[in-house]
Amino acid sequence: MNFADLAKVPGPASEWVLREELEETGLERGFVLEVMRDRLRVMREAIERGLQSDAPSVAGMVGWNAKTLWEAEDPLRAPLLKRVQAYAMAVNEENARMGKIVAAPTAGSAGTVPGALFGVADHLGLPDERLVMPLVLAGGVAKIISRQVYIAGASGGCQNEIGSSAAMAAAAVTELLGGSPEASVHAAALALQNTLGLVCDPVGGYVEVPCVMRNGFFSVHAVSAAQQALAGVRSFIPPDEVVLAMAKIGRLLPPELKETGRGGLACTPTARRTVARLGGTPPDCDDPPDGG
Ligand code: SF4
Repeated sequence: MNFADLAKVPGPASEWVLREELEETGLERGFVLEVMRDRLRVMREAIERGLQSDAPSVAGMVGWNAKTLWEAEDPLRAPLLKRVQAYAMAVNEENARMGKIVAAPTAGSAGTVPGALFGVADHLGLPDERLVMPLVLAGGVAKIISRQVYIAGASGGCQNEIGSSAAMAAAAVTELLGGSPEASVHAAALALQNTLGLVCDPVGGYVEVPCVMRNGFFSVHAVSAAQQALAGVRSFIPPDEVVLAMAKIGRLLPPELKETGRGGLACTPTARRTVARLGGTPPDCDDPPDGG
């Protein structure tokens, strides 16, 4: 199934994703749904731990940001915005401390889906059980994207990781709030097309900077895409063509911007000093290698 097919199914899109999964794997419906519930429990626990902890991450660049945001005053009076970001950052700070998270679809982008899904559900007072089928749909979105690209920053830049997680989250939130399959698919496309070209440039190769805050930003981005799609906004470019555009952009990106730690933020003076302080060899940013 591609996005065009998924947009046309009758009834919830997640139900069709689940049917296809059961046909392909031979697994029992009850088993798959229980796995989804378990994944949701892990996500919820990572959020709770992350919001309470200010312990530094492995490389010491992050670890306190989710708690700081969560406990701060909210001068914007935008509780959904604050909640979604804080949840997403909490999960990724847990990841940076080597805590248990759900790669959704990767560890580096693990905060976006739980940030958006649990953030919206808690904001509206919805029980976690309501998130089971939206999470199935999120998995279906990742499956469709992964037929065209490897979901890894090393393959096509951060657009492949955060773009995919934002698309997953956007579709899932849209279905959670009663959107049609077509609306969910377009929410995914809107989220994806507005991450195109995003580079992967983690400082020192650690999934800390910019990754933690990036999940915070793109969980909000996913909720925005869902809000637009639920209101009737549609992607001018058909969703499957957006995925192809992402694949082409990923091939055009230079290796320095694909998780090599040799470009972008990873080549700033501060990043190079940080790598040296951690005992590593700072990247030779003036003479990047070929290939990649
Ligand atoms: S910058 Fe790279 S390592 Fe960090 S989240 Fe994006 S793809 Fe993953």
